[in-house]
Order: sequence, then structure tokens, then C-alpha cells
Amino acid sequence: MMPNPAHVIRASLITRSIKCGKPNCRCATGEGHKSLYLSSYYNGKTQLDSVPKSYQDKVSQCIKDYEEITTLLAELSCINLELFRRREIDL
Ligand SMILES: [Zn+2]
Repeated sequence: MMPNPAHVIRASLITRSIKCGKPNCRCATGEGHKSLYLSSYYNGKTQLDSVPKSYQDKVSQCIKDYEEITTLLAELSCINLELFRRREIDL
């Protein structure tokens, strides 16, 4: 089954440690606050979008769906090319 194309996202989920800047915060001396981001690359630009924890699973599924559809389309294209070579494709 093809995943729903309406929900695909081409990006990666990454974790970034951010220092909040408050001088008394534990992050001033130690590790920063970990946050989840969507890293995407379109039109020559990489963008980071913050992802709330409550969205993590859904966003993760959207990324998987994108990858699955991409793989399925590549396989379909391969089959269609073979059919075209045999002039058996119905266009
Ligand atoms: Zn902090």
C-alpha cells in the first residue's frame, strides 16, 4: 500500500543542543537544552524548524512515508520503462 502523499515530508529529524543564554542556567556551564528540529533542504537552502515533542511521532511517520513513496515510485518507473521498451505500456 502506498502511504498517503498528503502527509509526506522530505526532511530529517535532528537534535540540537541550544544554550538559552541565562547566566544562572545549568546550560551555561554544561550541555545545552536539547531540542528536536526538522532539517530540510529546498531551493538551495537548509532550514531548521523546531518540532514540539507532541509532533515527534507524526513527523517521523511523514518522513518514513516520503521515503517509502520515493522508493515505490522508483520501482514503478523501472517497471514502466521495461514495459515501454516492450511497447506494452498503456499510455
Ligand atoms: Zn539554559
